[in-house]
Amino acid sequence: MSTVPSPAPASVAPHDRARPLAKGSLKPAKDLCSDCGLCDSRWVAYVRRACAFLEQRFEAMEERAHGRSRRLDDEDELYFGVHQRMVTARLRQPIEGAQWTGIVSRIGVRALETGLVDAVLCVQQSPDDRFTPVPVLARTPEQVLAARVNKPTLSPNLEVLEQLPGSGIERLLAIGVGCQIQALRAVQATLPLQKLYVLGLPCVDNVSRQGLQTFLESASRSPETVVHYEFMQDFRIHFRHSDGHQETVPFFGLDTPALKDVFAPSCLSCFDYTNAGADLVVGYMGATFGRQWVTVRNPLGQELLDLVEPELDLAPVTSTGDRRQAVQQGIDAYEKALKLPMWLAELVGVFVQRFGPKGLEYGRFSIDSHFTRNALWLQRHHPEKVEAHIPAFARKIVARYRLPKP
Ligand code: FAD
Ligand code: SF4
Repeated sequence: MSTVPSPAPASVAPHDRARPLAKGSLKPAKDLCSDCGLCDSRWVAYVRRACAFLEQRFEAMEERAHGRSRRLDDEDELYFGVHQRMVTARLRQPIEGAQWTGIVSRIGVRALETGLVDAVLCVQQSPDDRFTPVPVLARTPEQVLAARVNKPTLSPNLEVLEQLPGSGIERLLAIGVGCQIQALRAVQATLPLQKLYVLGLPCVDNVSRQGLQTFLESASRSPETVVHYEFMQDFRIHFRHSDGHQETVPFFGLDTPALKDVFAPSCLSCFDYTNAGADLVVGYMGATFGRQWVTVRNPLGQELLDLVEPELDLAPVTSTGDRRQAVQQGIDAYEKALKLPMWLAELVGVFVQRFGPKGLEYGRFSIDSHFTRNALWLQRHHPEKVEAHIPAFARKIVARYRLPKP
């Protein structure tokens, strides 16, 4: 009697055996979890090396994505990461309801229309709540446009990776913030994709949905009608309300003591403000008022920008002013948890707006302010993580300032 040999078992990848963690369960990064969504997919199998809050691997990520890591002795790369081009831009025909002029949504739309990709990973909003994020794999331009405007809350973007197997999607454009992109890059080689494009947003000071409520109630006169807000280059927060009216509040008038605990611990320990792993980054803080700031990190990023470049009013980046004294004063004021009376906050705001940093120097002001605050927060709350968690570029920046004792 002959026996038929059983076929050799096909090799099974770790993610084929893994299951998403149950929603609401404690995640591996514990209190530092940014809810990036990786653990809500089978790619949780790689969480130990992928999670931005368990281990920071900037050099390796930059080398994989761009072919080299940033040059620390080049001031622009030190601050803004690997890049081959930096410009400011606005869509000549802005998209109604977008966060700025809608360059990000337009790139998503064009990527689908031209067949560059089969789907766009982006974030729509819950029908019940404008600020509750709903990540999707958009297959049509309408679905991409429905994701326009920031949901300024932690968003589990990577949970939709779970939908990739069997979806027919082979080429994907992923839009996301730094922590989501770090995890995505770490698992990229294991995804069932032929091509991945990454369009990044700079990100800082994100909050949980509950934290957002506290922030809105503290900062706006009418928190329940806010539909859009941004921390602008004129050192004011601009709130847009559902009836269309604008409210602006000077940064220096914020109730710092009440807001110290509002930001998510993940964001207080993050140094990926400018989204180091993305192919193309579209923000605003390195541009002058009303324009967007575009950083092309590699040829894939330029391919994405090519999709919309004929529709853009482009200009070179500029940089004026000197941020350093303002950053040091901000560190000292934050430490004392000072709350200025509104008349004084308005006065300081007018002065800083007139004589303060602009363009790339404003971007450096914001990076310095957040890196110094976050380094101190880590030293105080997670001293065991300081060594592994603060990347070389952030150390070099933080060392330029006088920090209070941890
Ligand atoms: P739109 O065309 O309106 O598209 C917005 C895109 O953002 C959509 O595709 C959507 O999928 C995506 N998105 C929305 N919410 C989230 C989310 N929570 N997580 C991941 N993706 C999301 N730029 C700076 O220069 N400095 C900053 O400090 C800064 N902070 C930011 C903080 C957050 C939480 C976010 C989401 C963005 C931040 N940005 C920052 C980027 C900036 O506000 C704009 O999003 C960017 O300039 C694109 O504008 P747009 O009009 O082209 O975008
Ligand atoms: Fe998982 Fe993302 Fe949270 Fe890290 S940040 S524990 S990868 S969900």
